[in-house]
Amino acid sequence: MSFKLSQRSLDKLDGVHPKLQQVVAKAIQYTKVDFGVTYGVRELAEQERLYKSGRSQTMKSKHLVQEDGYSHAVDVVAYDGSDVVWEINVYDDICDAFKQAAIEVGVSIKWGAAWSEGDIREYEGTAEDAMNAYIDLRRSQGRRPFIDGPHFEVIA
Ligand SMILES: [Zn+2]
Repeated sequence: MSFKLSQRSLDKLDGVHPKLQQVVAKAIQYTKVDFGVTYGVRELAEQERLYKSGRSQTMKSKHLVQEDGYSHAVDVVAYDGSDVVWEINVYDDICDAFKQAAIEVGVSIKWGAAWSEGDIREYEGTAEDAMNAYIDLRRSQGRRPFIDGPHFEVIA
Protein backbone atom coordinates (compact mmCIF):
# COMPACT_ATOMS: atom_id res chain seq x y z
CA MET A 1 0.00 0.00 0.00
CA SER A 2 1.33 3.42 -0.74
CA PHE A 3 0.32 6.70 0.77
CA LYS A 4 0.12 10.30 -0.39
CA LEU A 5 0.92 13.54 1.38
CA SER A 6 -2.09 15.76 1.98
CA GLN A 7 -2.13 19.33 0.76
CA ARG A 8 -1.77 20.39 4.38
CA SER A 9 1.45 18.37 4.68
CA LEU A 10 2.76 19.77 1.40
CA ASP A 11 2.06 23.29 2.67
CA LYS A 12 4.11 22.52 5.81
CA LEU A 13 7.08 21.72 3.58
CA ASP A 14 7.18 25.32 2.34
CA GLY A 15 10.53 26.82 3.23
CA VAL A 16 12.09 23.44 4.09
CA HIS A 17 15.50 22.53 2.60
CA PRO A 18 14.82 21.23 -0.95
CA LYS A 19 16.68 17.95 -0.37
CA LEU A 20 14.70 17.27 2.77
CA GLN A 21 11.52 17.97 0.81
CA GLN A 22 12.65 15.34 -1.72
CA VAL A 23 13.34 12.86 1.09
CA VAL A 24 9.84 13.35 2.52
CA ALA A 25 8.29 12.96 -0.94
CA LYS A 26 10.07 9.62 -1.43
CA ALA A 27 9.61 8.39 2.13
CA ILE A 28 5.82 8.60 1.81
CA GLN A 29 6.08 6.15 -1.11
CA TYR A 30 8.19 3.64 0.84
CA THR A 31 6.67 3.82 4.31
CA LYS A 32 4.59 0.99 5.74
CA VAL A 33 2.94 3.55 8.02
CA ASP A 34 1.00 6.57 6.76
CA PHE A 35 2.34 9.90 7.97
CA GLY A 36 1.82 13.64 7.57
CA VAL A 37 4.08 16.65 8.10
CA THR A 38 3.22 18.77 11.14
CA TYR A 39 6.15 21.18 11.17
CA GLY A 40 8.72 22.56 8.83
CA VAL A 41 9.72 26.13 9.44
CA ARG A 42 9.33 27.40 13.00
CA GLU A 43 9.27 31.05 14.01
CA LEU A 44 11.62 32.23 16.76
CA ALA A 45 8.75 33.08 19.13
CA GLU A 46 7.32 29.58 18.75
CA GLN A 47 10.75 28.05 19.40
CA GLU A 48 11.11 30.12 22.59
CA ARG A 49 7.74 28.87 23.77
CA LEU A 50 8.65 25.21 23.12
CA TYR A 51 12.06 25.62 24.75
CA LYS A 52 10.62 27.20 27.88
CA SER A 53 8.03 24.45 28.19
CA GLY A 54 10.69 21.73 27.81
CA ARG A 55 9.31 20.39 24.56
CA SER A 56 12.46 21.43 22.74
CA GLN A 57 15.98 21.01 24.09
CA THR A 58 17.55 23.87 22.22
CA MET A 59 17.15 27.42 20.96
CA LYS A 60 19.33 26.40 18.01
CA SER A 61 16.57 24.32 16.47
CA LYS A 62 17.04 23.23 12.90
CA HIS A 63 13.39 24.19 12.36
CA LEU A 64 14.43 27.85 12.50
CA VAL A 65 15.38 29.34 9.15
CA GLN A 66 19.09 28.59 8.68
CA GLU A 67 21.78 30.64 6.93
CA ASP A 68 20.80 29.25 3.53
CA GLY A 69 17.24 30.53 4.00
CA TYR A 70 15.65 27.16 4.72
CA SER A 71 14.44 25.19 7.70
CA HIS A 72 16.57 22.05 8.00
CA ALA A 73 14.05 19.96 9.94
CA VAL A 74 10.62 18.42 9.67
CA ASP A 75 8.33 16.78 12.20
CA VAL A 76 5.97 14.06 11.09
CA VAL A 77 2.92 12.44 12.62
CA ALA A 78 1.92 8.83 12.03
CA TYR A 79 -1.61 7.80 11.12
CA ASP A 80 -3.58 4.61 11.31
CA GLY A 81 -6.48 5.54 9.06
CA SER A 82 -7.64 8.82 10.56
CA ASP A 83 -6.17 8.03 14.03
CA VAL A 84 -2.97 9.70 15.12
CA VAL A 85 -0.41 7.19 16.41
CA TRP A 86 2.29 8.15 18.92
CA GLU A 87 3.83 4.76 19.72
CA ILE A 88 7.54 5.00 19.03
CA ASN A 89 7.78 1.70 17.13
CA VAL A 90 5.75 3.25 14.35
CA TYR A 91 8.23 6.13 14.08
CA ASP A 92 11.19 3.82 13.70
CA ASP A 93 9.34 2.24 10.77
CA ILE A 94 8.99 5.74 9.29
CA CYS A 95 12.70 6.30 9.90
CA ASP A 96 13.49 3.17 7.90
CA ALA A 97 11.55 4.72 4.98
CA PHE A 98 13.43 8.02 5.45
CA LYS A 99 16.70 6.09 5.34
CA GLN A 100 15.89 4.53 1.98
CA ALA A 101 14.76 7.94 0.66
CA ALA A 102 17.87 9.73 1.99
CA ILE A 103 20.13 7.20 0.26
CA GLU A 104 18.37 7.87 -3.05
CA VAL A 105 18.33 11.64 -2.67
CA GLY A 106 21.92 11.69 -1.41
CA VAL A 107 21.58 13.79 1.73
CA SER A 108 22.67 13.28 5.33
CA ILE A 109 19.75 13.08 7.74
CA LYS A 110 19.69 12.78 11.52
CA TRP A 111 16.75 11.24 13.41
CA GLY A 112 15.44 12.79 16.63
CA ALA A 113 15.29 9.47 18.47
CA ALA A 114 18.96 8.59 17.85
CA TRP A 115 20.89 11.85 18.23
CA SER A 116 24.22 10.16 18.85
CA GLU A 117 24.04 7.88 15.83
CA GLY A 118 24.70 10.35 13.01
CA ASP A 119 23.48 9.96 9.45
CA ILE A 120 20.51 7.58 9.14
CA ARG A 121 22.03 6.32 5.87
CA GLU A 122 24.94 4.89 7.87
CA TYR A 123 22.85 2.91 10.36
CA GLU A 124 24.12 -0.65 10.35
CA GLY A 125 20.91 -2.09 11.72
CA THR A 126 17.36 -0.80 11.85
CA ALA A 127 16.27 2.58 13.15
CA GLU A 128 15.11 0.77 16.29
CA ASP A 129 18.68 -0.49 16.84
CA ALA A 130 19.99 3.06 16.41
CA MET A 131 17.53 4.43 18.94
CA ASN A 132 18.48 1.73 21.43
CA ALA A 133 22.17 2.55 20.96
CA TYR A 134 21.41 6.21 21.73
CA ILE A 135 19.38 5.27 24.82
CA ASP A 136 22.17 2.98 26.07
CA LEU A 137 24.74 5.72 25.56
CA ARG A 138 22.72 8.31 27.49
CA ARG A 139 22.04 5.90 30.31
CA SER A 140 25.73 4.99 30.53
CA GLN A 141 26.36 8.72 30.95
CA GLY A 142 23.69 8.94 33.64
CA ARG A 143 21.66 11.20 31.37
CA ARG A 144 18.08 10.93 30.27
CA PRO A 145 17.51 10.19 26.57
CA PHE A 146 15.55 12.83 24.65
CA ILE A 147 13.45 10.82 22.23
CA ASP A 148 11.87 12.88 19.46
CA GLY A 149 10.68 10.19 17.07
CA PRO A 150 8.75 12.54 14.74
CA HIS A 151 11.82 14.73 14.07
CA PHE A 152 14.20 14.49 11.10
CA GLU A 153 16.87 17.05 10.20
CA VAL A 154 19.49 17.68 7.56
CA ILE A 155 23.09 17.36 8.76
CA ALA A 156 24.66 20.45 7.25
ZN1 LIG B 1 11.33 18.72 15.19
